[in-house]
Order: sequence, then C-alpha cells, then structure tokens
Amino acid sequence: MKQIQRVVRNVHPHWVGDGFPVRSLFSYAEDAAEVSPFLLLDYGGPHEFAPADRQLGVGEHPHRGFETVTIVYEGGLEHRDSTGAHGKIGPGDVQWMTAASGVVHAEFHSREFARTGGLFEMVQLWVNLPAREKMSPPRYQEIVDRQIPRLNLEPDGGTVRVIAGEWNGVAGPARTVTPLCVFDLRLKAGHETTAPAPEGHTAILLVQHGRVTVDGKSLAAGDLAILERSGRDVALRCEAEAMVLMLTGQPINEPVVGQGPFVMNTREEIRQAIHDYQSGRMGRLT
Ligand code: MN
Repeated sequence: MKQIQRVVRNVHPHWVGDGFPVRSLFSYAEDAAEVSPFLLLDYGGPHEFAPADRQLGVGEHPHRGFETVTIVYEGGLEHRDSTGAHGKIGPGDVQWMTAASGVVHAEFHSREFARTGGLFEMVQLWVNLPAREKMSPPRYQEIVDRQIPRLNLEPDGGTVRVIAGEWNGVAGPARTVTPLCVFDLRLKAGHETTAPAPEGHTAILLVQHGRVTVDGKSLAAGDLAILERSGRDVALRCEAEAMVLMLTGQPINEPVVGQGPFVMNTREEIRQAIHDYQSGRMGRLT
C-alpha cells in the first residue's frame, strides 16, 4: 500500500475573480516534481452565494501548455472562448480543456445559478502536458454526469465515479494525454476501500466532506494528502460518510517553468507565450 508523504491542511481561501473562493491545495510553484503530472489544484467552496443580478466569475484570460479540468459538484458554470466555443456545466459534469498551444477564455457562474444563488462547490485541476504536446491545437471534452460510470464498492462501501483512467477494468470517458486517473469517491462510514494506484505513480487524495483514515492518519474535510510514489494501491477507511477526490498519474520527468496562466519547459517559451498572447496570436473573445 502507498503511504502518506505529507498532508496539506488549514489552507485559507482566496478569490479568483469575483466568482470563485478557492483554496490552492497544491501548486507546481512549490514542488513541481512531487505532484507531476498534476500542476495545481484549486478547491472552490463549498460556498453559499446570494442571488446576483450579473454572472460572477473571472473575465478574459489565456492558458498555454497544459489542461484545465473543472469538476462541478454544486452550482453551475459557463465558459466562452476564443475559438467561439461556449459551454455550460452543472452538478456531476466535467469540462476537460486541453489549452495546449493556447486558449483565451472567460469562466462565470451560469445564468441560472446567478439568478437563484445557492451552494457552490467545484474543483479546478491543472494537468501538465509533455513537451511534445504543449503546442498542439487546443481541444475540449465536455463530459456530462450520465457519461461517467458509477460503480458500487463492495460490500456496500459506497460508490466511485470513474472520470478518467480505469477502476477494476471500467474506464472513464476522459481522454488523457499521459496515463492518469481521476476518481470521485462517495464512501460510507465503517467501510474500507482499496483504491487502485500503480507503483511509481503520483497519488493524491482530497477529502471534501467527512473523514477517512489512510496509512494510520486521519484526514478531515478540506485536507489533501500527497502519497509516496512507491508501493501500489491506497487503503482508505471511512470514519464518517465521505466525499474524496483521488488523482493518480505517471510523472512527466521534464523541466517545469510557469508564469501565471502559462506552464512550459523553458523561460524562453514563457516569453514567447506572453508575446503571443499580447499580440493576439492566442485569439480573443468576441
Ligand atoms: Mn481559466
């Protein structure tokens, strides 16, 4: 079984734009090798929004060199981008955006959510791309809840939604560039679950609600655990009905150089990204 390398807890939220109160639970800026192939995880909410007369969010901004994966649990989101695409996702849905060579977009609360207000909860994960894919054309996968397999954990231990990768031979709908898994676990108190995690892969657990014990350590709501690469699989014992996001992935052993919304391999590529954005070569919102 994999053991815990470190636990991140008591992280204070900050606002992204005026719509997203997030806790950044890990970032490549601290230790890029430790979390590779992942770059960053922002946990948004749970937060209660009052009804608003406009859509809160974050305005026009670019990305290059990686993927943004947005998972909505409560509330609703809309995005618009420089390719002319426009989309809307709600509870259970996932937007997997491969920014690659560059996308300019805006992310907002959905019109419906702005009008009604209510509970908002989401995760935005940044996934790195290998150097050979960083300048590929951008693409989207809009994955709705009903496309995501939901498996029962025996015996009566809860459920897992397989968003990406494979759980006991059942594959999730997301197409990934490098081998990685994204699992949405709903665990029942008193049950133990062994989650698949390959030897040598990074493994990360975010406890969103409830409480679990892993490797003898108790993890509560808002805690994130980074596990050792050595060993395989992760044993979770659920102490109080829990919701856990589990990530595993094969590390990308390449240099990581980032600035703001750009993550590349060299300083020169960052300078080029800033230049390309400022000169309109990543497109504009219309
Ligand atoms: Mn963005």
